[in-house]
Amino acid sequence: MLRLYNTLTRQEETFEPLHGNTVRMYACGLTVYARGHIGNFRTFVCLDVLRRTLKYLCGHEIREVINYTDVDDKTIAGAQKAGVPLREYTTQWIDAFRSDADLLGIEQPEESPRATDELNMQAMRDMILALERHGHTYDRDGSIYFKIGTLPTYGRLARLDQQSLHAGASVDVDEYSKDDARDFVLWKASKPGEPAWDCGGFSGRPGWHIECSAMALRLLGEAPIDIHAGGIDLIFPHHENEIAQSEGATKKQFARFWVHVEHLFVENEKMSKSLGNVYTVPDIVAKGFRPSALRYLLLSSHYRKQLNFTWSGMEQAEESLRRVVDFLVRLEGVKGEGRSPDVEAAVARAREAFTAALQSDLNTAAGLAAIFDLVKSGNAAVDAGKMSAADASLVRSTIEDLDRVLGVVSLRRAEDERPPIPVDEIERMIEERKAAKQRRDFAEADRIRASLADRGVLLEDGPSGTRWKKK
Ligand code: AMP
Ligand code: ZN
Repeated sequence: MLRLYNTLTRQEETFEPLHGNTVRMYACGLTVYARGHIGNFRTFVCLDVLRRTLKYLCGHEIREVINYTDVDDKTIAGAQKAGVPLREYTTQWIDAFRSDADLLGIEQPEESPRATDELNMQAMRDMILALERHGHTYDRDGSIYFKIGTLPTYGRLARLDQQSLHAGASVDVDEYSKDDARDFVLWKASKPGEPAWDCGGFSGRPGWHIECSAMALRLLGEAPIDIHAGGIDLIFPHHENEIAQSEGATKKQFARFWVHVEHLFVENEKMSKSLGNVYTVPDIVAKGFRPSALRYLLLSSHYRKQLNFTWSGMEQAEESLRRVVDFLVRLEGVKGEGRSPDVEAAVARAREAFTAALQSDLNTAAGLAAIFDLVKSGNAAVDAGKMSAADASLVRSTIEDLDRVLGVVSLRRAEDERPPIPVDEIERMIEERKAAKQRRDFAEADRIRASLADRGVLLEDGPSGTRWKKK
């Protein structure tokens, strides 16, 4: 049974899906005005482990939605600055996100909606209409607001006392003239030149909070959904407001479990552009590290603890991961006969410790430790000549099985198989080198060879032409 910390109750609780065996979960996705940074990806990697735990360890079916916030102040400003239509501007960041998520071995959720998809816009209008019907809204200067005073349960998730809800404790930055500073915008009047949609005669665009409420309920069905997740900064106001809207519109509980991932820091500082420490996945790769090592690092600490990213931490992660992969290679060479009860016992211990760790609110650090204990005792058994081929195969399949939840070893192996640059690019450069040689431009031919070598590809000239291999 999975025990999961629920921000709503501030307690660990046993998790089971509400309906049958299917878990319906929603995570707030990236605001697509820039490439996602490694802090964003800490949240998405940890939520990927939640998904994989539910799927592979608990045997549930998963229906997961991770949205793209493709309309808000930042996306609109970015598109205007770049001089391209909003949708075109956000598409490039969505593509970059998907590519980085693949590099980090994040499983594709069942649904990845964009807020500006017409069906989602319609769901937002419908929700705003329902809120109007229930008396939760008012309009001012062309914008529609949610009136917090109409919902007595407001503030329950964030545990706000009335004090901190006082006027003046401004919550959203993007509103001008509300009845009460606590109220938040549902539909925001567009300024001239900004993209606009219609909502019952109001020309504007959705507020950020309504996007998630509407997409979650449209794609996951009836409230309550099982799990709603995101980074810890989203508890307030974003998730509090999502609850207000969804519960105000449906009169039902919105989500049963709220899961929040703590922040990633870089060299003990908050990531920020001014400090120049906002790293992306390509930045990490450009420093010579593999995405699998980043995934490992992101899982090396519990998701509810702050994690400090350092370059030496990356080196340690590389080394630790290499130890596991080298051990798996070593096991392939083991030839002995028979079976060792000691190895079987070590395998059973690892499996038990791993399962207990993950079921205990996704303790990935303890899960990794269980794998390392098995690597250690396995290496000792091979050293002592006490491991047979059958034992080796049991140990190998156990590590592979546990890794389905963590996804680090499989990712490293996939990286090892993948060429460091696209094959057609390698082939094009081989052709260029051949042409250079034919015109006796040996300097150019050497330059091409060296440039490929720098990027991890070695060329070998043979009687049947030039072949390439990974360095
Ligand atoms: P955003 O694009 O700002 O809406 O953020 C996308 C997701 O990344 C949200 O769930 C945020 O809470 C999360 N997030 C943002 N910064 C960090 C960070 N430094 N560490 C972990 N998660 C973060
Ligand atoms: Zn959201």
